[in-house]
Amino acid sequence: MVDFIMWTYLIVAIIVGITGAIVASNKGRNGVGWFVLCFLIPIAILPLLALESAKTSNEKHRRDGRYPCPRCAEWIMRAAVICPHCDTELPKRQTH
Ligand SMILES: [Zn+2]
Repeated sequence: MVDFIMWTYLIVAIIVGITGAIVASNKGRNGVGWFVLCFLIPIAILPLLALESAKTSNEKHRRDGRYPCPRCAEWIMRAAVICPHCDTELPKRQTH
C-alpha cells in the first residue's frame, strides 16, 4: 500500500514536472530547472501558470496601444497627458 502511494506520487510529480518544463520553455525560461522544481514541489507549477497569464495580459495591453506609467507602472492610454492612477504628467509620445 505504501508502495502504491509512493508510485502514484512519483507519477504525478513527473507529469507536473514535464508540464512545468514545457510551459517554462515555451516562455523562454529554464525548462530543466522548472522540471526539477515542479518535480520536487508540484505546487510550484501554480506561480508558473500565473506568470504566463500575466505575460499574456501584458501583450494584450500593448496591442491595445497602452504602455506602463513610468512612475506607478499602471497601464495607461498612449494619448494620455496625465496618468489617471498617480496624476503624473507624462512625456509626450508619438502615436503611430
Ligand atoms: Zn501613474
